[in-house]
Amino acid sequence: MSDAHRRGGITISFELFPPKDSDGEAKLFGQGLPALIKLGPAFVTCTYGAGGATKAKTLETITRIKRETDLEVASHLTCVGATTEEIDTFLDHIDEQGITNVVALRGDPPKDDPGFVPSPAGLRYAADLVAYLSRRGGLDVAVAGYPEGHPECLDKCEDWRRCAEKVEAGAGLVITQLFYDNRDFFEFDQYLKNKMGVQVPVVPGILPILSGPQIRRFCSLCGAKVPAEVGRKLDSFGDDHTASREYGVEVATKMCQELIAYGVPGFHFYTLNRVHSTREVLQNLGLAAK
Ligand SMILES: Cc1cc2nc3c(=O)[nH]c(=O)nc-3n(C[C@H](O)[C@H](O)[C@H](O)COP(=O)(O)OP(=O)(O)OC[C@H]3O[C@@H](n4cnc5c(N)ncnc54)[C@H](O)[C@@H]3O)c2cc1C
Repeated sequence: MSDAHRRGGITISFELFPPKDSDGEAKLFGQGLPALIKLGPAFVTCTYGAGGATKAKTLETITRIKRETDLEVASHLTCVGATTEEIDTFLDHIDEQGITNVVALRGDPPKDDPGFVPSPAGLRYAADLVAYLSRRGGLDVAVAGYPEGHPECLDKCEDWRRCAEKVEAGAGLVITQLFYDNRDFFEFDQYLKNKMGVQVPVVPGILPILSGPQIRRFCSLCGAKVPAEVGRKLDSFGDDHTASREYGVEVATKMCQELIAYGVPGFHFYTLNRVHSTREVLQNLGLAAK
């Protein structure tokens, strides 16, 4: 992953999630993934245990992608609630598949367990997981960054210092949480580079908006804001999903154009296993593979 970014130019990667059922799997492998491949991503990543998905499904999905395509694949991996033994078992499995890219995350404590205590036989923060992976060796590790600060951390600069700790622990790439105001990304990126001396690529995570309710829900979950102007415009579309989606493409295209002018090394698209919006943004930018 980090090598792809060091090759220069604008590197594109896509995030997928493991399909929940056989219908979703048929759609992903029959239509979504082949269409995404045509756009020429440098690699794809697959989420782990997010939104209630099982971890076994992640393994199944990345194994199938690796088996059926030529794509470079990265597995997300969270340490929350896991013992190091469980983490090792997962790493052994991906190793058997020849997968050496990991997006290392803490994950979220279970929402239905307010008294949740991290496993004493586990790792507490993503930085601990990165250090653990570095000791294991042979892995290319990416971590999450939060341009608006992680929602649990009251001071965004403190959270950004924690992000730099993950790089110090061995991460070769930072992928950001979604955001809709590029100024948040610029501030985050400059803090990491100028104040913390981070030298690895910092890649904006882009989620083209599909609808007002959807993006408000996502943003409230991850502590990102929907700029007032964007919110007003989405409200004006009401139930017109086509207009909302087209506007989402327009917003993402403008954001990416400004980010390219700023000098980002690439984009990581949160595809939600869909292709339309990502393809249109990349085509608008002249970045879709010919
Ligand atoms: C690119 C990306 C991909 C993601 N993929 C997944 C996925 O596949 N599965 C999933 O479940 N979730 C995923 N998430 C969500 C992520 O798991 C949550 O945001 C989670 O709450 C934090 O994970 P983290 O790795 O950023 O944690 P950390 O970097 O460990 O940070 C978590 C919190 O702890 C604080 N902190 C860190 N170190 C310390 C310390 N030493 N002392 C005190 N406080 C500290 C940080 O400031 C932050 O508030 C993803 C997020 C992003 C941006």
